[in-house]
Amino acid sequence: MTPMVSATIDTSALRHNLQVVRQWAPRSRVMAVIKANAYGHGLVAVARALESADAFAVARVDEGLTLREAGIKTPTVLLEGVFDFEQLEAAAAAGFELVVHAPEQIELLRSAAAGARFKVWLKLDSGMNRLGFKGEAFASAHASLSALGCVQSPVNLFTHLASADEPELPTTGDQLARFDAATRFLPGERSIANSAGMLSFAAAQADWVRPGLLLYGVSPIAGAIGVDYGLQPVMTLRSHVIAVKDLAAGEQVGYGGNWTAARPTRLAVAAVGYGDGYPRNLPSGTPALVNGERAVLAGRVSMDMIGIDVTDLRRAPKLGDPVILWGDGLPVEEIAVWAETIPYELLCGISQRVAVAVL
Ligand SMILES: *Cc1c(COP(=O)(O)O)cnc(C)c1O
Repeated sequence: MTPMVSATIDTSALRHNLQVVRQWAPRSRVMAVIKANAYGHGLVAVARALESADAFAVARVDEGLTLREAGIKTPTVLLEGVFDFEQLEAAAAAGFELVVHAPEQIELLRSAAAGARFKVWLKLDSGMNRLGFKGEAFASAHASLSALGCVQSPVNLFTHLASADEPELPTTGDQLARFDAATRFLPGERSIANSAGMLSFAAAQADWVRPGLLLYGVSPIAGAIGVDYGLQPVMTLRSHVIAVKDLAAGEQVGYGGNWTAARPTRLAVAAVGYGDGYPRNLPSGTPALVNGERAVLAGRVSMDMIGIDVTDLRRAPKLGDPVILWGDGLPVEEIAVWAETIPYELLCGISQRVAVAVL
């Protein structure tokens, strides 16, 4: 049975994008970020496609365990570390690498079972003011960790950039200077850059880059699309036409009747809505591809449906015809602008009811 809404995942595009990332950061190893169900693309399928990555990064223990349960043994970093003894034990058994960003996590490591060994990434808060140690606290955390028997020597060094997608700001330069000052005389591997950081700041590439969005073929920089960088979009969100009707000028469409036909209009109804993660705030005028041709939304997004003005299409749509909401031929970056959000949120936000099909 054909699903009404599907997200097709192009694994050859994923592999291509990993190669592009490697070309940009030829001296760095790649920690492929696959948290949040690989940005909506499917954690295990993406991990399998990216098995040549040097490591994976996930936010939480359960995400890492899902990889291990699928038999994936690639080194895996927990970007938020662990928060209780149970998580610590699970991480030890699974061989996860831990980001350590809070004093409580160092105390937790003190309680690790004899024989447990962790590769640890100590996180400097270089100015984002979210996770990490600052100033003196970083130096003393480094000393405490280095003295722990369960921590592999040397401790590795980590920070995160707040505004790398706005390279014209002084923020990233300030963060890089703070990281350098705090870590200059320390041994260990270094990891600083997310997608935007590795694109815009060669100095941030360091030993390990941590791309997420780029791997999915999407630009982290506003005003550009992944294709501009030679990337290929990985996810295409698809649905079908389930009704076609002709409206007279003056007729209204959808809840609240907030779109009025200004001319005799042919309207196609497609089976996709906010129940699938296609945002309700997308306004009339948002593009969609019907049979590969561009048309625009007319009326409010419902839970299960949208209306599309197909009056000007060369080929009149019929029931069952394909509709692309984003992806192949319609950049998710463009839809994100219409939705007044970032592509990350659209990709992560596809709902349980969307059938993910791995190609
Ligand atoms: C999510 C995340 C990344 C990846 O960010 P992108 O912008 O998708 O490349 C890198 N590092 C950390 C710490 C993250 O949380």
